Amino acid sequence: ATAAGTLTVEDLSVHYGGVCAVRSIGFTVAPGQAVGIIGANGAGKTSTLKALMGLVPRSGGRIGFGGTDLTRIRARDVVRHGIGYVPEGRHVFPGLAVEKNLLLGAYARSWRGEQTRQSLAEVYELFPVLGEMRGRLAGALSGGQQQMLAVGRALMAKPRLMLLDEPSMGLSPKLVEDILAVLRRLREDGLSLLLVEQNAKLTFEATSDCLVMENGEVAMTGTSAELRDDVRVRRIYLGI
Ligand code: ATP
Repeated sequence: ATAAGTLTVEDLSVHYGGVCAVRSIGFTVAPGQAVGIIGANGAGKTSTLKALMGLVPRSGGRIGFGGTDLTRIRARDVVRHGIGYVPEGRHVFPGLAVEKNLLLGAYARSWRGEQTRQSLAEVYELFPVLGEMRGRLAGALSGGQQQMLAVGRALMAKPRLMLLDEPSMGLSPKLVEDILAVLRRLREDGLSLLLVEQNAKLTFEATSDCLVMENGEVAMTGTSAELRDDVRVRRIYLGI
């Protein structure tokens, strides 16, 4: 079992060659807390999540989760420590069946069959449509269903903290509502969330606290309610 814990990010930086994508950012996500990161295209949101997952090299900083130092850890070990990741663009395997996609989510856990079957049952309970379509190829699912599959795949490893990169991307307003309902359900189940979004309205509804990133830096922080009512945020990110 993984100890529930606070994600602590201090002075995190990411460089691509000479380009600085993330510049000494810091924040925390407490157990059960949902934190949002909003910002324009290229602000460094995706790079921040990838750095937490060990998918891009970090050029500085410290990452801790519930007393474990994750600063130098590899991606599959991050999953073992209870952090799930839903990448931008979903990245499901279109030529594999829905259930095969889900089973890949448990791979890093080296579980016995019984634990994997229990995880699968929980995902099908949360997303009945995935159960109905378990034998279909993932590529045959709609965009919204593929997003559910990507969330389900991350849940298969039983994370305590879920990192989500633009889950609303390309989805209709109706499906964005469905995503919001899923995020609420995850919070009710006690997961911590770190949600990266260009959709600020969704983010403010799904989280208690937010960071605004600009040019790789944290430009503003506050409760989601405060930021939603902020004049500058309203003008730039809500178009009001
Ligand atoms: P998006 O909404 O497009 O995902 P973002 O806020 O997530 O934007 P990042 O994707 O983290 O921003 O990009 C931050 C900066 O780093 C941008 O200037 C981008 O061009 C640059 N960048 C991202 N990935 C790479 C890479 N693999 N090589 C070089 N530069 C990169």
